[in-house]
Amino acid sequence: MKFTTNNNKETQKLGKVLAKELRGGEIICLSGDLGSGKTTFSQGILNGLKIKGPYTSPTFVILKKYKVPGEKIKNAYHIDAYRIKSRDLEELGWKELAKSKENIVILEWAERTKRIIPRNALWIRFKWIDRNKRELAFS
Ligand code: ADP
Ligand code: MG
Repeated sequence: MKFTTNNNKETQKLGKVLAKELRGGEIICLSGDLGSGKTTFSQGILNGLKIKGPYTSPTFVILKKYKVPGEKIKNAYHIDAYRIKSRDLEELGWKELAKSKENIVILEWAERTKRIIPRNALWIRFKWIDRNKRELAFS
């Protein structure tokens, strides 16, 4: 499934729509170049989960943990693998956090840590089309 968005609000809206479908235990893998909209989309998901902002980019901290209000989903992890490898994520406790049905995991630059991504993960590939257009391909 492919979507084209025409501004960052539309990309956030798509993230919000996805958030409504989440039940807990999902791993959402975002791949694509710098500036293709991965963090923007992630912010839409976090917003859709009713998490209070600000949702700053995890680029420099690698991993951000948010409490999710409500019953079923407890935590949302927003991870940026740009500067790390699979091994580093394992050291941060990846195994535990990725298998819990109480967590949602959003992983930017997931293609860099392919080895540890479960097979049932949702992949979204981001493409820069022009200054304000992005293509999101879901698989
Ligand atoms: P990434 O995390 O993939 O590096 P970001 O979401 O941080 O990307 O940055 C995307 C940049 O592109 C932001 O500055 C955003 O305002 C801009 N932008 C322009 N059009 C779009 C769009 N359609 N979707 C998402 N971001 C867009
Ligand atoms: Mg980013």
